[in-house]
Amino acid sequence: MRSTKTSAHLFELGRSVIPDAVSSPMRAFQQVGGNPICFAAAKGSKITDVDGNVYTDFLNAFGALLLGHGREEISAAISRQAAQGTVVGLTSPLEHQLARRIVASTPAIEQIRFVCSGTEAVMTATRIARAHTGKDLLVKFVGSYHGHSDVLLATPSTAGIKTKGVTQGISPNLGREILLCQYNDANQLKSLFKAHGANIAAVIVEPYATNMGFVRPQEGFMELIRLLCDQHEALFIFDEVVTGFRFNFGGICNLMDIDPDLVTFGKIIGGGTPIGAYAGKARFMQHVAIGNSVFQSGTFAANPLTMAAANAALDVLEQPGFYEEMERKGQVLDSAIRDEFNATNIPFLFTRFGALGGVAFRDSHRAMKSYQDVKNQHYEVYTKTHQLMLDKGFLMAPSLEEPIFLSAAHSDQDLKGFAAALGESVSEALAAHRQAFPVLLPF
Ligand SMILES: *Cc1c(COP(=O)(O)O)cnc(C)c1O
Repeated sequence: MRSTKTSAHLFELGRSVIPDAVSSPMRAFQQVGGNPICFAAAKGSKITDVDGNVYTDFLNAFGALLLGHGREEISAAISRQAAQGTVVGLTSPLEHQLARRIVASTPAIEQIRFVCSGTEAVMTATRIARAHTGKDLLVKFVGSYHGHSDVLLATPSTAGIKTKGVTQGISPNLGREILLCQYNDANQLKSLFKAHGANIAAVIVEPYATNMGFVRPQEGFMELIRLLCDQHEALFIFDEVVTGFRFNFGGICNLMDIDPDLVTFGKIIGGGTPIGAYAGKARFMQHVAIGNSVFQSGTFAANPLTMAAANAALDVLEQPGFYEEMERKGQVLDSAIRDEFNATNIPFLFTRFGALGGVAFRDSHRAMKSYQDVKNQHYEVYTKTHQLMLDKGFLMAPSLEEPIFLSAAHSDQDLKGFAAALGESVSEALAAHRQAFPVLLPF
């Protein structure tokens, strides 16, 4: 039986100096119950916790690690750079090299700037959109997450719907400048533009929604956003903090044939170090040039450690066949999970694109479309599943609203082992709940 004694002790002690003993809330496992774990070391696809338990990692730092933990090329680049300065307060060839590479990867963008987090990247992108258009309103989608800046956590008090990250401490005035739309709801989006188009500065969207499980846009939805933005002179911001460089070398906008005005990156491009980037057409990006309208700065922005790690990561991602191999891994997981679910009569749908997947914990074989669908899942079944998976040596995201993240470090054995464990765990979790809620869960 797995012991988490040392983790439990650290959490208990830690709470006196760190709220919930964590610096980012999901790490406390509040959404999945059970004992949160403290890690001791991580390498490749494996994490060892402070009690010596080993887990195959399907969280991968909420998707930041497409190459797994401690990839040699990246560790070497970080060590080399550490000996030559970690932060200097000046620009460097590494920064320019990274900028040239990312701009060349994605035809939709002409210029880029680096910051330290996705949060900062998105925040600045919305600032540019407002400055450029001279308008105030932002359209965002229910269930989306774009970082924790005030502007993107603001919610209209009249919304009357549950969305993510609702928090006190944000001026209600900011909420008044946000319009909420259901993901994939074309009619609602059209009505919002009809009523408010003259005041809409930007629409911000994740091209594939990855912060409400894994939900894909319906045919034509992104094209509709592009069209409405053009008609009403609003900017179209693609938040590619998760999707960027995950499926192809560049933004997913390359694959979707969509031409966003601004694109934000983060997570993967840092090679496991803190990063964010906002990019776009020069006429929008020029707003942050000195003497123009928008201010953005950062002591650690484009710091050489991150720039070295990022360039090393891009070296690996750029190797021929890299994304084909990730797709192959995705297929291995895909067919193994489908076989498991069929064999054990699990009614849940598994969806996947490239090396990103998600199980919809609901009794439907139709793909989820919106946050309403996401909220209709059996969260209690996921809670139990998450705990059982940990006992079997697999770390999944501590929230049903996060996808399953594959990395290049996963072996076929990792993937097949995960699928088998998932089939067993979901079956067990369902059985446990059939007893507890015979009426609510008629599987
Ligand atoms: C993680 C995430 C962010 C925020 O990035 P941080 O680096 O955590 O600040 C923004 N947008 C999306 C879509 C994300 O998933």
